[in-house]
Amino acid sequence: MGSKKNAPLYPDSGPRPFPPSLSPKAEVWQQELRAAFTRPAELLAFLGLDPDLADPAAARAFAFLVPRGFARLMRRGDAADPLLRQVLPLREEGWIPPGYTQDPVGDAQARDAPGLLRKYQGRALLVVTGACALHCRYCFRRHFPYAEEALIHDREQQALDALARDPDLTEVILSGGDPLMLDDARLEELLKRLSALGQVRRLRLHTRLPVVLPSRIGPRLCTLFATSPLPLVIVIHANHPRELSPEVVAALAALRQTGATLLNQSVLLRGVNADPDCLAALSEALFATGVLPYYLHQLDPVAGAAHFAVPPAEAGEILLRLRATLPGYLVPKLVQEVPGALSKLPLFERL
Ligand SMILES: *Cc1c(COP(=O)(O)O)cnc(C)c1O
Ligand code: SF4
Repeated sequence: MGSKKNAPLYPDSGPRPFPPSLSPKAEVWQQELRAAFTRPAELLAFLGLDPDLADPAAARAFAFLVPRGFARLMRRGDAADPLLRQVLPLREEGWIPPGYTQDPVGDAQARDAPGLLRKYQGRALLVVTGACALHCRYCFRRHFPYAEEALIHDREQQALDALARDPDLTEVILSGGDPLMLDDARLEELLKRLSALGQVRRLRLHTRLPVVLPSRIGPRLCTLFATSPLPLVIVIHANHPRELSPEVVAALAALRQTGATLLNQSVLLRGVNADPDCLAALSEALFATGVLPYYLHQLDPVAGAAHFAVPPAEAGEILLRLRATLPGYLVPKLVQEVPGALSKLPLFERL
């Protein structure tokens, strides 16, 4: 692990890897994070692939990070593997067609206090950290100014004060980055403070860690969730059925035991899951572990991700096939986020 010293731990923008200082008592998930691949060439060598498949300029623009457990789910020798495609920096990231921007979802205009985004009635979203365990190349916040905006300690009171002033608030969403990158003690403190807001009825977490770093779901975290005074909704993020390994299934089963409601959101991605059979298999695999599909997002037009886009007509065809083959509750809502809209906008509601 000593070889990671020269890795760029804090890129200028985008989700940030875990802080470099680790106590000797680091938990397993923290150790796994330290052992994650931080260079595309290492991952490609591990998969028996040509290191030149990765583009150095793309990797510099948005740091590379992949836990080894996620890498083990990729097919060796397959450059088109759908899990690899989600994380591999490609030259195509330099293609920025008109309409692709740094802030595709209008986060800047939705900022209420540092780390606090408000777009929709009754819900507020806290950017609790800029860190993620894996860096998705299509990330809509890959250019988000985390250094100025993440909810670090001294800004937390400001955000909580703003929430306390809103009588209509019913739900607080912890997002990021990934909120489960906070350690258990910090998360406990934050959940306690949010639960004390009298008007809030539920808390929601948007997290990819149960999928990309399942060891994060340990006994202390589960106890924290199981004893939450407010109902919890945990929205995970899986894009492909092969992401649901036995370890992930076990982590999801543990989360379900806490009584939390489990939902999944996916992004519709060219070269990953833009295929009705793949998405149907994902819905089935999610259901088998107690998770219902929630959103299937049309790609947010973030600069660097245009090669993942699926044209609306093709997305509609895929949705139609899903409706024709799955029970309604296993069909995710296909949505597009439009800055300034009152909700995420459902697409092809009547097809
Ligand atoms: C997506 C999002 C939400 C949640 O929207 P739901 O439709 O309730 O899932 C809330 N706040 C912000 C800022 C969001 O981007
Ligand atoms: S987990 Fe979410 S926030 Fe983190 S890099 Fe992926 S898309 Fe972005």
